Amino acid sequence: MSENKKTEKIVAVKGMNDILPAEAPLWELFENTVQSVLKSYGFQQIRTPIVEQTPLFARAIGAVTDIVEKEMYSFTDSMNGDQLTLRPEGTAGVVRAVIEHSLAYEGPKRLWYAGPMFRHERPQRGRYRQFHQFGAEAIGFTGPDIDAELIMLCQRLWDDLGLENIRLELNSIGDADERNKHRVDLIAYLEQHIDILDAEAQRRMYTNPLRILDTKNPAMQAMVNAAPKLLDYLGPDSLAHFEGVQKILKHNNIPYTVNPRLVRGMDYYNRTVFEWVTDQLGAQGTVCAGGRYDPLVEMFGGKPTPACGFGMGVERLIELMKAAGEPATQNQCDVYLVHQGEAAQLQSFVLAERLRDAGLDVVLHCASANAGGSFKSQMKRADASGAAFAIILGDDEMHQNVAMIKTMRADDGEGKQTPVPFDEVVDHLVDQIIGAAEHEHEHIHYHH
Ligand code: ATP
Ligand code: MG
Repeated sequence: MSENKKTEKIVAVKGMNDILPAEAPLWELFENTVQSVLKSYGFQQIRTPIVEQTPLFARAIGAVTDIVEKEMYSFTDSMNGDQLTLRPEGTAGVVRAVIEHSLAYEGPKRLWYAGPMFRHERPQRGRYRQFHQFGAEAIGFTGPDIDAELIMLCQRLWDDLGLENIRLELNSIGDADERNKHRVDLIAYLEQHIDILDAEAQRRMYTNPLRILDTKNPAMQAMVNAAPKLLDYLGPDSLAHFEGVQKILKHNNIPYTVNPRLVRGMDYYNRTVFEWVTDQLGAQGTVCAGGRYDPLVEMFGGKPTPACGFGMGVERLIELMKAAGEPATQNQCDVYLVHQGEAAQLQSFVLAERLRDAGLDVVLHCASANAGGSFKSQMKRADASGAAFAIILGDDEMHQNVAMIKTMRADDGEGKQTPVPFDEVVDHLVDQIIGAAEHEHEHIHYHH
């Protein structure tokens, strides 16, 4: 390796993003909100590995899908030759784990997961190679009630996050035999319009014709709009299920539109499918997608177990939150400790630990490469931290056994300095900070 190579900057993998501290409060606000909504519906968390055996995804998602055809990060385990894949979605792993640990044995389960997913897509707005999802999987429930509950959970989440302009599209893609009947007619129809089909559609015509209905190609819209509709092929059971979902949504005033062309990109879905869509994000407007996947557990070797779930794209929802208001901000700490001299430094450590014992967030100034240790440069750091108070300890304070407490914010009388005996520092600050926080709870602010 040349000298030059060694010093070359190494950058992140294309399409994989860092989430920097300035953005983290918004992510935390999102994550805390989703988790509390999920909890309020009785969903329990499950964590599965990021890497699974490749056949798990190939079998679940389907061979003729975007994901399996071209988006999976797969590799061979160099130790034993296993074919492995970074998970492109969450459902397959959750269902594997449910079967492996007989989780649904004693009764139905409401589960949720969160974490990074990996797809080798062309990076663009709203489309990354590592992205994040929150998802819910309700396993072992047969009726339309759970489908409606999952949808209402999403609606509550948008409301709690203050997100408007997300609309619900709903469809039923029936059961396998209904889809097979429709498929015959659909292929015949597509054959009549072969001249309008783009290359992708022609390639999929006999392998996954349903997915052609989902095309975004403007030249094909009129053709797909007039194509045979799956809804017209549903038998009484599928229809009753679909009507059951709609009845609950209507009763609870959840607006939706039936989109007869809505399909999902994975083969395991049946009956209810839905997407939450916004016009605020350009081309990548689907923020959450889900549906029923009754065949999947059995496909994985479990005993037949109905199921329904959704996955939401965190990056797209974070972008909507940004558009909805000022970004959430978070102060680094409540108190910043500034000190000069060895005795003051040692005393600072003691005070900082006592304040943390009392539940406050404290930053103790530490030596750094790019800032001098002068009071002035330390105070600049204190300012930048957003702390409500600075504690100043120098020779004078050490001689008098006091800490100088300085208010940093205009609304508490900025710049006011109060000498407080060491033993009273904790009480003094706890009173002021916890007292003030009772009005605001937490120091995350999210304005609309
Ligand atoms: P799309 O039509 O956008 O390709 P999809 O059908 O592949 O979506 P799902 O597999 O259903 O998407 O994933 C659920 C959600 O995860 C999507 O609605 C979207 O919000 C998000 N998502 C999917 N792929 C990506 C990606 N590459 N980058 C960011 N978010 C994504
Ligand atoms: Mg996709």
